[in-house]
Amino acid sequence: MSSSPPPIILWFRQDLRLKDNPALAAATERGQPVIPVYILDDESAGEWSPGGASRWWLHHSLESLATDLRKFGSRLILREGLAAEEIDQLIQDTGATAVYWNRCYEPFSLERDKALKASLKARDIEAASFNANLLAEPWTVKNKSGDPFRVFSAFWRSVRTNLDPGHPLPAPDDLEAPEHWPVSTSLDDLQLLPGNPNWAEGFENVWSPGEQGAYDRLIGFLDCGAKHYDKGRDRPDKPYTSGLSPHLHHGEISPRQLFAAIDTAREEIGDKNAEKFLSEIGWREFSYSLLFYFPNFAEKNYQEKFDRFPWRRDTDGLRAWQRGRTGYPIVDAGMRELWTTGWMHNRVRMITASFLIKHLMIDWREGEKWFWDTLVDADLANNSAGWQWVAGSGADASPYFRIFNPITQGEKFDPEGDYVRKWVPELASLPDKFLNRPWEADTATLAKAGIRLGETYPKPIVDHKTARERALTAFQSLKEAA
Ligand code: FAD
Repeated sequence: MSSSPPPIILWFRQDLRLKDNPALAAATERGQPVIPVYILDDESAGEWSPGGASRWWLHHSLESLATDLRKFGSRLILREGLAAEEIDQLIQDTGATAVYWNRCYEPFSLERDKALKASLKARDIEAASFNANLLAEPWTVKNKSGDPFRVFSAFWRSVRTNLDPGHPLPAPDDLEAPEHWPVSTSLDDLQLLPGNPNWAEGFENVWSPGEQGAYDRLIGFLDCGAKHYDKGRDRPDKPYTSGLSPHLHHGEISPRQLFAAIDTAREEIGDKNAEKFLSEIGWREFSYSLLFYFPNFAEKNYQEKFDRFPWRRDTDGLRAWQRGRTGYPIVDAGMRELWTTGWMHNRVRMITASFLIKHLMIDWREGEKWFWDTLVDADLANNSAGWQWVAGSGADASPYFRIFNPITQGEKFDPEGDYVRKWVPELASLPDKFLNRPWEADTATLAKAGIRLGETYPKPIVDHKTARERALTAFQSLKEAA
C-alpha cells in the first residue's frame, strides 16, 4: 500500500504560468502530490477551437511551462480529447481525490466546467475553481438595477472604484510529485505546429511564448512604451503598446500582475499613461462581461437591427483583404503584419476591420473568422467585441456611419510612413505625399519609385468615396425599415 496521500489534478487551461496562479497555489498548500495536466479539448470548443496561429503559440507555451515544471521535479501531463473523459481517466489512473482549475469564460467552457464540477462532486471528488484571469469576474459587476453594464465608461468606473486586486501570488516553493506519473501524450503528437509550408516562420523573430517571455515583454514595455502610452498607443509605427495580448490570452501573465506592475511604476511612467493602460485592461474586462451576459456575442449581432443588413458576398474582395492586396496601403500593411507576425496594432485592426465591413460591406463574421485563425492573441471575448465595435452592431459600439477613411487614417497615424514602408516594401520609394494614395501620383513619380500600379502594387479594389456612400445608403435602409 502506498503511504503518500492521494494526488490533486491541477488542470491548466488559459493560465499557463506558475506565478499568481490561484489554483496552483491552493493545490500546493494542501501538501499533497500535484499532477499538472493540459488537455487539448477541441471537441468542446467546436468552431472556436484555437486557430492556426494560436496553436503555434500554444505549442511553445506548453513547452515553456513543461520546462518550468521540470525545475520543480514535476511534469506537464498532456492529453487530447473531451476534458471530462480525460479527467475521469486520469482520476482512475492516479487515484486523485481532487481537481483544481482556474476559470475560463467562453460559453462552452462555462457549460463544460459546470457539468464537470457537478459530476465530480456527485462522486465525492473535490472540484475547486478559481479566478486567475480577470480583475473582476462578470457576475460581480452590475449596475444599480442589477443589470450588466452596456456602456464601457460606466462599467470601468464601477470596476475601478471597487477594485482591490491584492498582491499577486508568488510561484510555489515546492511541487510534490506523485509516486507514479500517468501516461502523457507527447507535445509533438498534439500537432499544434504548422506543417509544410511553415507559415509561422516570421513569428519566431517577434515572440517568446511562455511565462518568462511575458515577464520580459512587460519589463521592456515599462522601460519604453509605457512612458508614451496615453498619446502614443495609436501609432502603429512606434513600439508604444505592450504586445502583451497573446501572453494575456494564454494566461502567461495575469491582469493582477499587470495592475501591480503599473502601480509600482506609476511615478516613473506618469499617471495618465498608467490610467490609460489600465483602462485598456478594462476594455478586456468589458469584453468578457459582454460575452458572459450575451453568450451568442461571437456569432450574433448584439443589436438585432443588424440582422437585416444587406451584406455583400464578395469572394474576390475578401481574398484581396486577407492577402493585403486591396490597393489601400495602410490596410494592406496591417493585413501583411498580421500574416507575418500573427499580430496587428490596435489602430490598424480598426482600420482593416472597418474597410472589410464598410468599404467592402462584407459581414463582420468573415473578418472575425480570419482574425481567429491568424492572430496569436485570438480571444473569443476581445475578438468578437472588437469586430462588433467596428461594425456598429455591438454594445457601446462605434456608430456604423462613422467610416474610417483609410487614406487619412494612414497619414495621421503613420505620419512618416515607416509602418507602410515596412510592410508594403514595394511602395517604399514613394514620397510621403503619395504613400497612402499611390493612384494620385503622376506617371513619372511612380516610375521613379519603381511602381507599376496594377502590376507591382494593386489599384484600389473599390473607390473610397463610392464605397463610403454605398455603405451609408445600406445603413440608411436599415433605419428606414425599422
Ligand atoms: P496594449 O495597448 O498594450 O493593451 C494592453 C492589453 O489590454 C492588451 O494586451 C489587451 O489584453 C487589452 N486591450 C487593449 N486594447 C483592447 C481592446 N480594444 N479591447 C479589448 N482589450 C484590449 N485583442 C485580443 O486580445 N484578442 C483579439 O482577438 C482581438 N481582436 C480584435 C479585433 C478587432 C477588430 C479589434 C478592433 C480589436 C481586437 N483586439 C483583440 C483588441 C486590441 O486590438 C488588442 O488587444 C491589442 O491590439 C493588443 O495589443 P497590445 O497587447 O500591444 O495592447
